Amino acid sequence: MCNNTVSSAMIDSMFTVRLERIRTLSESTKDFRFVCADNISLDYKPGQFYRFVFTDEQGEFERSYSLCNFDELYGRHMDLVISQVDSGRATKLLFDCQEGLEAKVTGPFGRLTLPEEVPGRLVMVATSVGLAPYIPILKELETSGFPEVLLLLGVRDRSEFIYGDLLKNYADQHDYFELRLCLSREKASAGYEHDGYVNAQIERLEVTPDADHFLLCGNPGMIDDAWAYLKESGFKPKHVVREKYVFARESKSSAKALTEEQKQLIADKLKKYGK
Ligand SMILES: Cc1cc2nc3c(=O)[nH]c(=O)nc-3n(C[C@H](O)[C@H](O)[C@H](O)COP(=O)(O)OP(=O)(O)OC[C@H]3O[C@@H](n4cnc5c(N)ncnc54)[C@H](O)[C@@H]3O)c2cc1C
Repeated sequence: MCNNTVSSAMIDSMFTVRLERIRTLSESTKDFRFVCADNISLDYKPGQFYRFVFTDEQGEFERSYSLCNFDELYGRHMDLVISQVDSGRATKLLFDCQEGLEAKVTGPFGRLTLPEEVPGRLVMVATSVGLAPYIPILKELETSGFPEVLLLLGVRDRSEFIYGDLLKNYADQHDYFELRLCLSREKASAGYEHDGYVNAQIERLEVTPDADHFLLCGNPGMIDDAWAYLKESGFKPKHVVREKYVFARESKSSAKALTEEQKQLIADKLKKYGK
C-alpha cells in the first residue's frame, strides 16, 4: 500500500468519489470506475463492500456495492460492476449518467474475505454480479498460498459471463484455480461450462466440512439453498461466509416498520428530554 493510505478507522468516515469511467460489459451490466476526490488510498480487505450515497432529483439515497478492483487494489480508484434492475433508483441514475457524477462513500464493510487459516479447498460461489468481490480476492490469492480454489459462477447465458477473459486467463495461468461457469438457460459446450445452477455443482463436489471453506455471494435464494445443503452436510457458519445482495430499503419504509412499542419508546424519550 502506498504512503497516503488512511487507516480503516479514518476511512469509516465519509469521503467523496467522482465517476471517472463507464464501460459496458453486457446488455445489462456496466463497470464504473470512481476516483477518490480526497488524496487518500483505499484500505480494505479484498471482498469487502462500500456504501455509496447518491443524489438524484428526490434527494439522497444509499446503495451498497462490492469493490471489484483487480489491477490496482489499494490506490485511489474504486471499480464497481453493476447490473441494471427494472425501475431501480440507482440504476436510473447510474445508467443515464456521465463521468463526473459524485457520491459520498462509507466503508469498508463485510466479512466476505479470505479466511485467516488456509483451508484445503476454497470454494467461491456467485450468481451474476455477485462475482464482483471475488475479482480482488483473485488478485490477493496470487500471493496467499491457497492450494485449491474453485469458482462456481451462475449465469443464465453466455452474454452474462462478465470478466470472461480475465477469468479464463487466470485459470490458464494459475494451477490452483478452477473456473466452472454454470449456465441455466443455455447448453454447456466448453470444458469449463456446466449445465444448470451453481447449487447442483455444489452437491456434486463431495464437500468436506473439515477441509472446505465456502464464500457465497449474490442472489439471496441461491445462498439460502446452498447454506441449507452445507449445514445439512455438517458445515459450521464459520466455514460458510455469506453475502446476500439484498435490496436496499428506503428510509420511509423503515420508519413504517417501527412497532407501536418502538414508537412509544421514542415518544417517551422525546418527552423526557423536552424535545
Ligand atoms: C452488501 C451488498 C453488496 C452489493 N454489491 C453489489 C454489486 O457489486 N453490484 C450490483 O449490481 N449490486 C450490488 N448490490 C445491490 C445494490 O446495492 C442495489 O440493491 C442494486 O444496484 C439495485 O439498486 P437500484 O436502486 O437500482 O434498485 P432499487 O430502487 O433498490 O429497486 C427497484 C426495484 O427492483 C427490485 N430489485 C432491486 N434489486 C433487484 C435485483 N437484484 N433483482 C430483482 N429485483 C430487484 C426492488 O425490490 C424494487 O422493487 C449489493 C447489495 C448489498 C447488500
